[in-house]
Amino acid sequence: MSASAFHAVVIGAGSTGAATAHDLALRGLHVTVIERGEVASGTTGRNHCLLHSGARYAVNDPVSAKECIEENLILRQIMPEALELNGGFMVAVDEEDEVFKETFLEACARVGIPAQEIPVREACALEPHLSPDVRAVVCVPDGVFEPFRFCLSFLATAKANGARVRTHCEVIGIDTAAGAVQGVVVRDRRKGCVERIAADVVINAAGPWAGQVAQLAGCDVPVVPVAGVMVSVPRRLNRRVIHRLHLPGDGDILVPQRLTSLLGTSSWTVANPDAIDIPADHVQRMYEQTARMVPAVRHWQPRGVWAAARPLIGSAKLADGRSLSRTFAAFDHARDGVEGFVTISGGKTVTARAMAEKVSDLVCHKLGVTAPCRTRQVRLCSHRAYYD
Ligand SMILES: Cc1cc2nc3c(=O)[nH]c(=O)nc-3n(C[C@H](O)[C@H](O)[C@H](O)COP(=O)(O)OP(=O)(O)OC[C@H]3O[C@@H](n4cnc5c(N)ncnc54)[C@H](O)[C@@H]3O)c2cc1C
Repeated sequence: MSASAFHAVVIGAGSTGAATAHDLALRGLHVTVIERGEVASGTTGRNHCLLHSGARYAVNDPVSAKECIEENLILRQIMPEALELNGGFMVAVDEEDEVFKETFLEACARVGIPAQEIPVREACALEPHLSPDVRAVVCVPDGVFEPFRFCLSFLATAKANGARVRTHCEVIGIDTAAGAVQGVVVRDRRKGCVERIAADVVINAAGPWAGQVAQLAGCDVPVVPVAGVMVSVPRRLNRRVIHRLHLPGDGDILVPQRLTSLLGTSSWTVANPDAIDIPADHVQRMYEQTARMVPAVRHWQPRGVWAAARPLIGSAKLADGRSLSRTFAAFDHARDGVEGFVTISGGKTVTARAMAEKVSDLVCHKLGVTAPCRTRQVRLCSHRAYYD
């Protein structure tokens, strides 16, 4: 059968769902995205906006590091409008960081991340707010993305290829019969009505809510919501992304986003991504730790404080989630007795395209669609085209 004979429903319009809608529409499937809020209203719209080079994960999570650098380079080609390619500095502020530098440079070389040490004096001339305690600086190809535009670019291109996007519609049920998915039950939150939408395949891209959505079909997924706090200050203090040169920890990244700086982040597991209570000491910790790299953060009151949950893959509920890999996985719920239902989770916004490729390959294999993935090459429509 031709790909256009199949209807795929994608649940969630965060970075994962948006990229998946694009991939499947490009392969010729008829696609409908169902999102309970606005585009990017889940974790994607509340993250650190860091176009990871992967350097942060090079030592302790090389699989994710490799995914990040590969996708970072692809995104530069397919969505230049949504990115600021300002680069990043990894900075050592104490002796331990300085010792870590060699391990870090070797790990970056192993996974293919270009990382180059530059003189501290040169770095301070480029980033005048760097702390006088900085002892070493390594340049890495980080950048910054705009999360809303990131999703809109994928969705605009999906729409150009025939996809429909229905926002403010919540999936409240998954219809199954004889062990196979038949469609979804959707409540339109604005109109207050409930309707059934038939589907040949349903893709659960609900991020940290993926477990709740999987439960609608009686399935389990090993997705652990791992929250993090973000603090924004109303001043762009640095041009580049600035990270601490050590293993990932709390408050060790400062990202310039438009005219603000984003301080982050922390890590703890939560039961419900809709009810995240920010622990009392986390905001202070963001200031203390980022001030080790850029002391001027202390002069600025928060413009905003929020938290969001990462949808990480893990079987154990670890206290802080730091040890869980940032890689991703696709789950075929045929193994749970529900044919035509799949989940894609884990990863990062930066790896959304690769996640979409993985789950779309699985979907097409199941449906017998032979169209290959073309998302590495196809330049996305402008985010503005979403509203056309
Ligand atoms: C604090 C923090 C900082 C981060 N920083 C970065 C960073 O700098 N760079 C980076 O690349 N990654 C970062 N990440 C990771 C990244 O944000 C996530 O991996 C990514 O946003 C997950 O995208 P998603 O589409 O899978 O989930 P989401 O963005 O959460 O999208 C899921 C969507 O599903 C919708 N949904 C849920 N249930 C239903 C339902 N029943 N019906 C319909 N819709 C439903 C939700 O409303 C939501 O919009 C960070 C994460 C956190 C928590």
